[in-house]
Amino acid sequence: MRTKLFDAAYLRLTAWYVAIIMAISLLFSLWLYNQARHELQFGFDRIVQVGPFEAGTARGTVRAFADDRLDDSQRRLIVNLVSFNLVVLAVGALASYGLARRTMKPIEEAVEAQHRFTADASHELRTPLAAMRAEIEVGLRDKKLSKEDAVTLLQSNLEEVVRLAGLADGLLALTQTDNNSILVPVSLEDVAGKVAKRLQPLAETKKIVIKCQLEPVAVQGEELALDKIIGILLDNAIKYSPAGTEITLRTYQKDGHGYFEVKDQGIGIKATELPHIFDRFYRADTSRSKTQVPGNGLGLSIAQKLAENLGGKIEAKSSPSKGSTFTLRVDVSPKG
Ligand code: ADP
Repeated sequence: MRTKLFDAAYLRLTAWYVAIIMAISLLFSLWLYNQARHELQFGFDRIVQVGPFEAGTARGTVRAFADDRLDDSQRRLIVNLVSFNLVVLAVGALASYGLARRTMKPIEEAVEAQHRFTADASHELRTPLAAMRAEIEVGLRDKKLSKEDAVTLLQSNLEEVVRLAGLADGLLALTQTDNNSILVPVSLEDVAGKVAKRLQPLAETKKIVIKCQLEPVAVQGEELALDKIIGILLDNAIKYSPAGTEITLRTYQKDGHGYFEVKDQGIGIKATELPHIFDRFYRADTSRSKTQVPGNGLGLSIAQKLAENLGGKIEAKSSPSKGSTFTLRVDVSPKG
């Protein structure tokens, strides 16, 4: 369906380009033809009037000869111009098709990305909905459903609803990360400190200690976006770390860039999975994280998109069972 739509668009755009090229070429040919005909006519008229011609040749014979040559030259000119226009048409059509494909490529990629996003989102929504539906149907068919069973069923459904709500929030956040943010000087260590304070109670529930080594760094950014990125990275570090471990937060400046680093002693990520963790809906090692740690696989893709909008990037290093380090890099503020 999409290919058909784009094929039609390529052809329409090609037709427009060809029409423009041919209009220019035909106008140019017409002008050239008129100009050449005028010059030829003038030349032959001069010959008829002033010669030179052999002695004894009648002026009428010269006129007839000149008219004959003029017709011949005009015919050749027309043939040459038609051939030229046919070549322009063939080359123009090929070039126009190439140009149309180039013009449409970013649009096609955007539509493709949109399609993949919708497909991924509906796939993710379908799983919890199917689970809820099955549970409710089984519950309704059970004539002897006790009050305790009903409460268990409702609790399980509530968990799925909470998961769905989180998913909807994540999807919304992903679509709202537009890249027209106005970048202003932000103190990275202040944002990191605020996020650490906010997530401290969560860390305490797992007896995780958050250590802060925050050097002053003024970066070019947006406070809300930086808060969200740091929040996602620290929340993950807490989620994927066993109780009683340590998480270290660092901010520092190096080679004209500002860095925020979060280092945990958590479960780590396998080298084969590391390249995928920033993909939408990707969750490493399904059996381990999907069943035990709540999440929807959207956090890191949102964080990376926000970082890119600030002209920055997040990178991850990890060793399974030893821990992970996530580093956000942004430009330092020119005033900083
Ligand atoms: P979610 O945490 O909701 O699953 P994310 O996009 O935040 O989604 O993370 C994607 C995956 O990357 C997680 O499912 C997890 O497997 C892995 N991950 C992210 N952060 C860490 C971390 N600090 N330690 C270990 N694994 C992590």
